[in-house]
Amino acid sequence: MKTSKARVVAKRKSADRSGAGAVKFAPGEHVRIVPLHYPKPSISIDELGRLRGEAPDTDLFDGQPHVAAATAQLTYNNGPLLTSVQVFTIFWGTKWGGPSGGTIMQRMNKFFQAILVSSLLDQLHEYSVPGKSIGHGSFIGTKLITAKPPVGSVTDSVVRKQVKAWIAAKTVPKNTKNTLYFIFLDPGVISIMGGSKSCQNYCGYHDAVGSVYYAVMPYPTCAGCLGGMTAPDALTGTSSHELCEAITDPVPGSGWYDNVNGEIGDICAWNFKKIAGYTVQLEWSNAHNKCM
Ligand SMILES: [Zn+2]
Repeated sequence: MKTSKARVVAKRKSADRSGAGAVKFAPGEHVRIVPLHYPKPSISIDELGRLRGEAPDTDLFDGQPHVAAATAQLTYNNGPLLTSVQVFTIFWGTKWGGPSGGTIMQRMNKFFQAILVSSLLDQLHEYSVPGKSIGHGSFIGTKLITAKPPVGSVTDSVVRKQVKAWIAAKTVPKNTKNTLYFIFLDPGVISIMGGSKSCQNYCGYHDAVGSVYYAVMPYPTCAGCLGGMTAPDALTGTSSHELCEAITDPVPGSGWYDNVNGEIGDICAWNFKKIAGYTVQLEWSNAHNKCM
């Protein structure tokens, strides 16, 4: 997608909302997902010509990502922030135990170890508020859980019950105000949230059940969630999207949120960079007024 000829994400995002793949949100519900990747630009050649006319200094064919929505602006709604996020990964299913599953588990855990002390977290510091200074995070552990594996699909309500049950049974460490559980599903298991499904409407989401913060990451197996990348790269990319959103808006809509564009990662969806060799998504900066 980096070489796509006309990456006008603001335009594409509005198409996301109205198109067949759009996530159905109830009124007042907040965006907390990774949207699907659309490989083709959704603007017409005419529109492109007009845009070029309006901005003669910008070459839309330069192969560079043309991101955002100069109108984007995250505003803080006084909710919690994960100021020193503690990531615990949960690989839930029977397929992670195999050799290739094991390699990907290891890679994801190394990704979090590297990324949580990287410039990606530094750039979120601008969203600190009095009494809540956003700094580096830490990777606090991982668990392969094969009990009661989802088969075929898993709904968000099942995930919410299960996370609380894992905490109660001490299968996973008890949550603190900074804990974020990242739940990775087996390849082929579809995530269902409200009326929406992974690979049809989204590629992952984060949310809160009470004061327990979690993200659900279905394994990317469809074009809409691979975005032309390998599955491991797509998974770090979409995980970085949810990580930054969970830090800045752990209770969706109550932290840093843009009522038009959604959370910090939504504004810049499917635009990536590399940090420590891993694919991570660009994130919106209010201070710099761009995705970076
Ligand atoms: Zn998002």
